[in-house]
Amino acid sequence: MDYLGRQLRLMQSMQQQRVSAMLVTHMPNIRYLCGFTGSAGVLAVFCGNNRRKPLLAFFTDGRYTIQAKEEVSGARIVIAKQAAMAGATEWLSRAAGQAMGIEADHMTIAQRAALSKAVAGKFRFKELSQVVERLRAIKELEEIHSIQAAVRLASGVFDAVVQDIRPGMPESGIAAEIEYMCRRLGAEGMSFDTLVAAGARSALPHGVASQNPVPANGFVILDFGVILAGYCSDMTRTVHMGRPDKNAVKMYEAVLESQLAGIDSVKPGVETSKVDSAARKILVKAGLGRYFTHSTGHGVGLEIHELPSLRKGSSPAQRKQKRTLGRSSVKSTVPDVLEPGMIITIEPGAYVPGCGGVRIEDMVLVTDTGCEVLTPTRKDLIVI
Ligand code: ZN
Ligand code: ZN
Repeated sequence: MDYLGRQLRLMQSMQQQRVSAMLVTHMPNIRYLCGFTGSAGVLAVFCGNNRRKPLLAFFTDGRYTIQAKEEVSGARIVIAKQAAMAGATEWLSRAAGQAMGIEADHMTIAQRAALSKAVAGKFRFKELSQVVERLRAIKELEEIHSIQAAVRLASGVFDAVVQDIRPGMPESGIAAEIEYMCRRLGAEGMSFDTLVAAGARSALPHGVASQNPVPANGFVILDFGVILAGYCSDMTRTVHMGRPDKNAVKMYEAVLESQLAGIDSVKPGVETSKVDSAARKILVKAGLGRYFTHSTGHGVGLEIHELPSLRKGSSPAQRKQKRTLGRSSVKSTVPDVLEPGMIITIEPGAYVPGCGGVRIEDMVLVTDTGCEVLTPTRKDLIVI
């Protein structure tokens, strides 16, 4: 992974934000910037005094002495005797008199208060939002390969497990089989709790597998992903138990058409809200607009939900409100235009309460000219 490149890009972002020092506290951001995969530590970044490249120090505790030495790239390692946050703040105090950036999206009120107390007004903090996350939205080739490997692993597991689904099996049994097979094939873990929602429960867009048995007739939504080399995958397929009636077929076809329209609209320079409207339009036309209750997709990478978010465009009133909010100290830097190297999901769905739901989700790479669908799994309606 190109840690130096990432650190240099962070330096540029920090200069744009007018901070010469920054405390990185969100662990996936720390992993992205220096390679540390453990679960505790603080990364201090200093780029003042006309430096050509930033100076980094990673503060962690004694549990991670060996691991930090093995993993951390481009940062001095400090095994802190005091709390990592206090150590990092003290180290950065050379930036006294200037603003020190902190990750406003990832700090508790108590941590923020402790920081203020520790520096006793010697310098001020600037609350930054999604600075590292914005860099992470554009994937390097090596990251794309890691994600592709995760996607392929999960797709293979879907193909195998779908053959074993029978009426009467509890949803949790199907989830267990998926997760067991993923781990057996080398997954480090699941990207999130596996969703298996059968029959009327398929109308729950976020139906975590329950003890409920799969009925003899109705939809089953399977939504899961694996983590491989730190990177997540995410896929959803909906299958039908027994012969689907006309309405079920119509609903499945509308969601599939919507998903294909969403993918079709993905190319560099397109606003993320345009992808959402391309998919949403089809479901509205099919009379299912009000049953599509979530956004069309999200970025995926070291975390399951990353930038960009493919949600509905804001109304003029909302935009006005956003401008007003923009005056606060937390500046939003959310990318709202697709760029080559982004990896996103396209996952429209329709959920009819008491009846059932359908969702189809692929992962898609934004290329220089359009996009490439990474998920190889078939999308015609599988009837079991
Ligand atoms: Zn999903
Ligand atoms: Zn998703």
